[in-house]
Amino acid sequence: MEERLNIQGKRVVVVGLGRSGLAAALWLAGRGALVTASDVRAESEFSPDVIEKSRGAGIALETGGHGRTTFEAAHMLVVSPGVPPDIEPIRSAAERGIPVLGELELACRLLDIPMVGVTGTNGKSTVTALLGEMIGQQGLRVFVGGNLGTPLMELVSRREEVDWGVIEVSSFQLDTMESFKPVVSVILNVSPDHLDRYEDYEAYVQSKLRIFRFQKPGGFVILNDDDERLRDEDPGKGLRVLRYGLKERSDRSAWISGDSVISRFPGPGTSRFSLERFVLPGLHNRENLMAAVLAALGAGVSPEAVQRGVDGFKGLSHRMEFVASYRGVDVYNDSKATNVDAAVRAVESFDRPIILIAGGRHKGADYGPLVRASLGRVKDAVFLGEARDLLAKDFEGEVAYRIVDTLDQAVSEALDLALPGDVVLLAPACSSFDMFQDYVHRGRAFAESVRRFVNGGESA
Ligand code: ADP
Repeated sequence: MEERLNIQGKRVVVVGLGRSGLAAALWLAGRGALVTASDVRAESEFSPDVIEKSRGAGIALETGGHGRTTFEAAHMLVVSPGVPPDIEPIRSAAERGIPVLGELELACRLLDIPMVGVTGTNGKSTVTALLGEMIGQQGLRVFVGGNLGTPLMELVSRREEVDWGVIEVSSFQLDTMESFKPVVSVILNVSPDHLDRYEDYEAYVQSKLRIFRFQKPGGFVILNDDDERLRDEDPGKGLRVLRYGLKERSDRSAWISGDSVISRFPGPGTSRFSLERFVLPGLHNRENLMAAVLAALGAGVSPEAVQRGVDGFKGLSHRMEFVASYRGVDVYNDSKATNVDAAVRAVESFDRPIILIAGGRHKGADYGPLVRASLGRVKDAVFLGEARDLLAKDFEGEVAYRIVDTLDQAVSEALDLALPGDVVLLAPACSSFDMFQDYVHRGRAFAESVRRFVNGGESA
């Protein structure tokens, strides 16, 4: 496979030195490319380990911004998944005809394993991890990663033998993908997100639909039939489309019946999967599960192994994660709800009164759907971060709210307001970058603050 890429002695600029960028840069340098890693962050913001590893491999570091001459002199750019592909230096390099590859695109050119690709606005990581569990239960060796977790370039470097790759793919990654030919592709949902980075909503949707663009005939495309925008999508090209939705319909391949998922699949026929041991709350997670069931069956996993995967899955941190109980109040951390739809689904997951903590960096979407979902469910809201006044404006007259400066204050206010039987829910509907490094940092800070409050029994 590697002969497809002629990089010996070529100047390659890796844009963004996160985990994926580093994996790509190390591999390229190891194959004789003259690699420069360019990042907007200052050198002091990197861990010494990253700097040491890079320099040790002969990678030139350009930190604190992207240098024009570096990009102009490049033979090729490799872009990390976290870097928007439309930033000026990348765009102008592309305009000059310099090949621009995403890290995932690079990995796909180098790997020859069957893959399942999972995209969508929300639920990618959950479904990717669930699928990994199911394929693993079949006794197959599976790599799980991509946009989140382990970058695919690390698999390339490890030269590890695997039977399947389950790859979470973001819309940014899909924008520059040409070699991704998954056997099974999954689109979970589309809702407004990243509007600050796309020209408009339709451009964002189109980038998600690229997941099946290069798929080979006979491959499976799994689509959420309850999603208005995906319902009428017809991938064509001899691809086999499997649709799922909460209710049974003749053209659906999976639906919910009581406490089971029913699937109708070419081969195993009709199967029933019990949800008795499925730990994830909310209807959205039932949707996620249907997508994972169909994708696993598409990958040849037996219904028995699928059921073992459902039973064994423990859920992921910072996604509807139970934190603690305090005087009859259950506290949940959904820090990963960084957009409005995820927060809506979080709020809809409880049939008890909710004290909602929301806010962070505004991403351009309208909070109206969150206001509507909150009516009759959220009895008080606590807003913080850059978006707090925008949230307050939309919630005005609909739901009682308070405004605070810090997450500690939010926790203390919310726990003060809550009565036994209520839920305190962090579902920000915003990104975390105004106050935190990322959603993990925010989720941890929240959980720590809650624990301090619970243990101290006083203001956090
Ligand atoms: P992604 O990798 O796409 O960001 P995650 O599995 O990490 O997805 O979940 C992100 C957020 O979206 C979490 O807050 C989670 O509770 C919520 N979520 C998960 N699945 C769905 C879904 N199908 N629809 C809407 N929200 C979802």
